[in-house]
Formats: sequence, structure tokens, C-alpha cells
Amino acid sequence: MPINWVDLITKTCQTLIKLDIRSFPTSPLDINFGNTIIVSYQEYERLANASIVNLGIKHDLRDAVLIRKTRPGLNLILYNNAMYSKRKGFSLWHEIGHVECDHTQHGSKQEAEANFFASQIIAPSVLIRELLNRGYPTDANFIATHFGMSNEAARIRIENFTKYEHESVHEYDDVLLLQFTNFLDSKFPSQTLSHNFENDF
Ligand SMILES: [Zn+2]
Repeated sequence: MPINWVDLITKTCQTLIKLDIRSFPTSPLDINFGNTIIVSYQEYERLANASIVNLGIKHDLRDAVLIRKTRPGLNLILYNNAMYSKRKGFSLWHEIGHVECDHTQHGSKQEAEANFFASQIIAPSVLIRELLNRGYPTDANFIATHFGMSNEAARIRIENFTKYEHESVHEYDDVLLLQFTNFLDSKFPSQTLSHNFENDF
């Protein structure tokens, strides 16, 4: 089955609202997910007094791994604290994406969905569009600097945004813009003249 992008964007918008994310960059480590606990490999090994390798996880352990339903309704995300912070953020949002999308398999489709989810949460389309409206140069460099993305992730983000999302508006855009208003106004006041002073006289 092909990826349903509209459903996926809806899912990311609902997640931004549900988690009440109001400023960027935002770290999953600062958020209480309730049903998902995030612990570093290093912390896990200290607490369990055992190596992460002993868990017998058949998964690449360089970045992070999601262990679903360790208890009923409880997921565990383990991550490598030695990752540099931008990579850590993306990896953790990627794993949260697997949870939010209810993935039970781990194939290329699920990977693409989790990557898209992560990039949408880290730099939502509605925010990029609004920054464009406000006169900011929303290129990969700008996104990498202000949204805590690696240069490579930011490049892909802008590529996808330009190709698919630039013109598309979404049913949650208004709600999200309201949610981001304080962040936008304090960090990115409009640089375009929205007021024609001549009309005042
Ligand atoms: Zn994955």
C-alpha cells in the first residue's frame, strides 16, 4: 500500500497539538509522552547493570531503538546518548513516529513514514510557509540553524517542502499557527511591510 501523505500530515498536526508544542527546536527528551518512556543506552545500562547488547535486539543500535509494549500500553525508546544533538532529536522523533503511526512492522514504508513524521514535527510545513510569508529565507541553512536539524535532514526537508507542500494548505494550519504565534512573533517578527503608512494621511 502506498503512503497516504494526507493522513500522515494530519497525524503530525494532531501530534503537535496533542503534545502542545509551541516553540522550536523542541526535544523529545523534554516531553512527557505518557505511554512511551525514553531512556539512553548509557542510563539503561547503569540502571540494569547489564549491557544493552544482552537485550538481544535485532536492530541497528547506532542511534535509537523502539521496544513496543514492554508492558501493556507502554513503549520503551532506547537511544545512544553519544549521538550529536541534532541527530539525536531526529532519531527520537523518528521512533515516536513509529509509535504514533501504530507501526507493527519495520519495512521501507514504515521507515519513510517515520522519517517524514520526524521532519514534520521538527519543522512543520505551516511554520515554514508562515516564515516565508514573513520574509525569511527558508533555505536548508536557515532550517538547520533554527530548527535543530542536520544539514542533510534540512536539505531533504526543504526539497520535499518545495516539491510537494509549498502550495498545499491543511485543515489544521489555522490552529497550529495560533499555537505557534508567540514563538513566531518573538523570534521571527514579520520583515515584510504589511502596513501602508500613506493611507494614514
Ligand atoms: Zn525506524
